Amino acid sequence: MQEFKSVTEKLSTATKTLFSFEILPPLKGQHFEHIQQAVEPLMTFDPAFVNVTYHQEEFEYKPLPNGLLKKKTVRKRPGTVGIAAALMYRYHANVVPHIICGGFTREETENALIDLHFLGVKNLLAIRGDAQASMKYFQAEPEGHSNAIDLVKQINALNQGQYLDEELLNSTPTDFCIGVAGYPEKHAESPNLQSDLQHLKEKVAAGAGYIVTQMFYDNQKYFDFVKRCRAAGIAVPIIPGLKPISVLSHLQILPQSFHIDLPEALVKDLKKCADNKAVRQLGVEWAIAQSKELIAQNVPVIHYYTMGRSDNVLKIAQAVF
Ligand code: FAD
Repeated sequence: MQEFKSVTEKLSTATKTLFSFEILPPLKGQHFEHIQQAVEPLMTFDPAFVNVTYHQEEFEYKPLPNGLLKKKTVRKRPGTVGIAAALMYRYHANVVPHIICGGFTREETENALIDLHFLGVKNLLAIRGDAQASMKYFQAEPEGHSNAIDLVKQINALNQGQYLDEELLNSTPTDFCIGVAGYPEKHAESPNLQSDLQHLKEKVAAGAGYIVTQMFYDNQKYFDFVKRCRAAGIAVPIIPGLKPISVLSHLQILPQSFHIDLPEALVKDLKKCADNKAVRQLGVEWAIAQSKELIAQNVPVIHYYTMGRSDNVLKIAQAVF
C-alpha cells in the first residue's frame, strides 16, 4: 500500500504541476454521500493532496415569546477530522485537514493534534480562522492562539516532542508537515502589503513548509506576490489557489468576503451571462485559462476550492491535467 506523504515531499519529487483540491464538510445533517459525489470524480486526477476545511461554531440569537433573545451555539459544518479519516481510508487520499486557532485553547489544540497524529495524518493547514459571524473582530479563546504563527509554533514544538506539560516523559514527536495561508492581494486586516508579508515570513520561520494562496482571478497578482515573497527571503513553495466563479452573486460576495479584486474583463463577461448556468461555464473557462498560464510558469501545484460541488473543477481538471 502506498504511504501517505507530506506535501513538501510530494512537491520535491514532482516532475510537473500537480493537481489538488479543497472540500468543505457538508452542512450538519447531510450524508457522507455529498462528500463522495464531490470527491470521487476528482480522485481520477490523482490529487497530490485533498484539503478539508474547518468551521468554528457560531452564535445565533433566537427570539423568545417574552421578547428576549436566547443565545444558541451552532456548528453548521462539523466533521473535518471524520471526513479526513474517511478520505484516507476509502480513497487513500493524502489529506490536509485545516486546523484553526478560533475556538481552541492550547490544550484542546494539543489534543486535536494527538488525534490527528494517531490517525496517521501527515499534513495540516494551520490558520487563524475568521471572526465569527456575530463578531466584528477575531477573538481568540482565553487560553488560545491569536494568530496562525502561534499555532504553527505549537505544532512545530510537538514535532520536536515538546508537549504543553513539560514534565511529560518519553513523549513521542509528531511529524506534521505544516502549510499556511498567504494573500497575494493582502489580508483584509493588514495595514499594508509589507506588514502582511513580514507576518507571512515569520510563519515560515516558525516552521511552515509551504504556503497556499487565497483565491485570485488575475494571475499577475500571484506572480507579483511570489516575486515579493522571494525578495523578502521566503523560499518555500507557494501554491496558487483558484476558485471558479459559479454564480452571478459572486461579483459582490467574493470581493466582500475575501477582499480580492475581480478583473474588469471578467466582470464585463459575467454581466453578459444570461443565467447562472452561463456564469458557471464562464467560471470554468476563466479558471482553465488561468490554470494553463500558471502551468506554463511551472507552478508546483494548482489548488482548487470546490466549495462542496465539484462538477466545475472536474471540467477544469479534464481540460488541464
Ligand atoms: P494570520 O496569519 O494570523 O494573519 C491574520 C492577520 O493578522 C493578517 O492581517 C496578518 O498580517 C496579521 N498577523 C499575523 N501574525 C501577526 C502577529 N504576530 N501580530 C500581529 N498581526 C499579525 N478559515 C476557516 O475558518 N476555516 C478554514 O478551513 C479556512 N481555510 C483557509 C484556507 C486558505 C488557503 C486560506 C487562504 C484561508 C482559509 N481560511 C479558513 C480563512 C482564514 O482563517 C482567514 O483568512 C483569517 O482571517 C486569517 O487566517 P491566517 O491564518 O492567514 O491568519
